Amino acid sequence: MQSAQNFLKELDYSVLQQCMHCGMCLPTCPTYTTTGKEKNSPRGRISLMRAVADDELTVTEAFGEEMYYCLGCLACTTACPAGVDYAHLFESARAQVEEKGVLDHPERRFWRWLTLKVLFRYPRLLRAAGRLIYLYQQSGLDRALRKSKLLNWLAPELAALEPMTPKICHHFSDTLIKEQEKAIEGKYKVGFLTGCVQDLAFSNVNRDTVDVLLANRCEVVTPRNQTCCGSLHGHNGAPELAKELARKTIDQFEDLDSLDAIISNAGGCGSHLKHYHRLLSDDPEYAEKAKLWDAKLKDIHEFLAEIEMVPPPKKVHSQSVTYHDSCHLCHGQKVSQQPRNLLKLIPGLVYEELPEANRCCGSAGIYNITQPEESQRQLDRKMEQLAKTDATVVATANPGCHLQLQNGIKTGKLGKQVVHPISLLAQAYR
Ligand code: SF4
Ligand code: SF4
Repeated sequence: MQSAQNFLKELDYSVLQQCMHCGMCLPTCPTYTTTGKEKNSPRGRISLMRAVADDELTVTEAFGEEMYYCLGCLACTTACPAGVDYAHLFESARAQVEEKGVLDHPERRFWRWLTLKVLFRYPRLLRAAGRLIYLYQQSGLDRALRKSKLLNWLAPELAALEPMTPKICHHFSDTLIKEQEKAIEGKYKVGFLTGCVQDLAFSNVNRDTVDVLLANRCEVVTPRNQTCCGSLHGHNGAPELAKELARKTIDQFEDLDSLDAIISNAGGCGSHLKHYHRLLSDDPEYAEKAKLWDAKLKDIHEFLAEIEMVPPPKKVHSQSVTYHDSCHLCHGQKVSQQPRNLLKLIPGLVYEELPEANRCCGSAGIYNITQPEESQRQLDRKMEQLAKTDATVVATANPGCHLQLQNGIKTGKLGKQVVHPISLLAQAYR
């Protein structure tokens, strides 16, 4: 059994001291905006964490609920003039909540076991589950069950979750993408990460990403049967599992030195993947490899902005497009201008800026499942802003945001389409 740890106490104390209580982050925090309460703000949460580290407060159920009420959107880190490393604090606080088991109950334990320990740990099992959901969706059983309202009666919680189940693709990434693909004229060699939800629900986006890389003179290496990068585990208080998956992910790329970059196209995953060194710094075997890994990890938009990008030659079907920032791409990775520039480069598209584009849509990993009411409030606000634009297409670069926006647009009958920016770019290269 793992020995009891105090993750907040073990943090470098200077990380906890960074906050100077100026309050600049308050207006950007979605949960503070909803309630107006200090405890639901970044500053309030940091004070609570510091009190725990200083032994002035014990980890209680209320503390745990507060840490899970936070979306982890990291808008506070963009606003903060003191450079508070909120992501580090937040992950340590959630790990401490899990260590103490203050939110523990059988149903929660079951779902954490099924998702964190089983499905998102063993890729073959996740794909097998994906295949089953695909068959269920294709057979029409999903529509029949929804119509009959049987699920509402038998298992209301499952009935609430059902609309959030992504439409599973017919082919996963390993079928659509070869392990090694070479451009006619090669200049770079890159590794490509296919992701978990991205692989199951948006394998077409993965194919588009490889096509864009090929068009930009890259040789692309895509290892088979990739594991989850562990972001779900890192953000949900399971650091040991996050470490295990980080080691496995690094091991998938045998010759790291030979790669110019490792490419991610999912904002949430990329943000976690860029911090493997922090996660594995105590591991004598992996610390150095993780440092090299972090240096090579690039979001696709970031990579394309850094290389001499081949101008897309073809005009895509003319459409007006707007862009919603994935929180972890924008606030976690500070990649916000590059996707916009890329969209403006595509012939045939008219770009329109979305008001409050970098405000969370309420997806936030599994927040829309764990905190459905607050998630809905954030989604409603996002839909109000979307309704103000004339854009017929909303581009976004994270599968969680993609699904959340799709649900909001469908429910609100907004008549807009959600796409990954790279899919639009791929069209202009074909
Ligand atoms: S991560 Fe987002 S929700 Fe959490 S404190 Fe920061 S701004 Fe608020
Ligand atoms: S902006 Fe930064 S320093 Fe100021 S209160 Fe918020 S977290 Fe603390």
